[in-house]
Amino acid sequence: METTQRHPCYSAEAHMRYARMHLPVAPACNIQCNYCTRKFDCVHESRPGVTSELLTPEQALDKFLWVKEKMDNLSVVGIAGPGDALANWPKVRSSIVMIRAVQPDVIFCLSTNGLMLPEYAQEIVDLGIRHVTVTCNAIDPVIGAKLYQYVLVKGQRLSGVDAARVLLENQMQGIRFLADHNVMVKVNIVMVKGINDTHIPAVVKAVKALGAFMTNIMPLIPAPGSVFEHMAQTSMKEINDIRNFCEVDLKQMRHCKQCRADAIGLLSEDRSQEFRMCNRNLQA
Ligand code: SF4
Ligand code: SF4
Repeated sequence: METTQRHPCYSAEAHMRYARMHLPVAPACNIQCNYCTRKFDCVHESRPGVTSELLTPEQALDKFLWVKEKMDNLSVVGIAGPGDALANWPKVRSSIVMIRAVQPDVIFCLSTNGLMLPEYAQEIVDLGIRHVTVTCNAIDPVIGAKLYQYVLVKGQRLSGVDAARVLLENQMQGIRFLADHNVMVKVNIVMVKGINDTHIPAVVKAVKALGAFMTNIMPLIPAPGSVFEHMAQTSMKEINDIRNFCEVDLKQMRHCKQCRADAIGLLSEDRSQEFRMCNRNLQA
């Protein structure tokens, strides 16, 4: 796909040339992963779930126009939290529609836990979004139950194996649907030693069978305040060993920076503080 050649996360060649911006328009989440805490106004941390601001769709459009004006290699606008893109769908959708109206060739990218994909996958396709990341850490609900505290479905809070099973079924259905409709699906897998590490090859094989384009096996970052805060951070050697093992089955992403939810710039840089909306307002 031509656009993939301009997507710094999907193409290793593109990541030194093209910039992306994450729009933090998605604060809520509908599940709780044991490795996640979401932080606002956190300037010094760089990991998923962290952002210095939350934006309305109108502010997201304004920020896009500002960054676009200053960064001529901007190719991708992604929604990567700080919560789940689909748990905030009306705001995410509005942001995409407004930006698309002023810049039709922008590449949009969504990041989701996949719980609501059965509900929104058709809309994603209809909106012309061709890059979606689904985090899927286990294809066995017994293992999944050790990774998630709860899942919220239609007003009900599920936990344990029941929660993991519903999440898994929706992820599988969603990945297959998107892949069948020409969406490049990247599957993120957080490697948690002693929980899903030996299970990861099975996850990679399963998502490949569903049509995923690539997997991105990432180290656990033991976030302060999360259930897993005292667990060891997975080493890059362990990550690379498992990536090498899985590469025979499916393309592996090796340049992920586990970016903030408001990250801006090349993957190797973080210009999020420079482009905070409070600075924009000062300039206005
Ligand atoms: Fe955090 Fe993402 Fe898990 Fe939600 S799906 S709890 S935002 S890591
Ligand atoms: Fe790309 Fe990884 Fe950063 Fe997402 S977190 S924008 S996949 S480098």
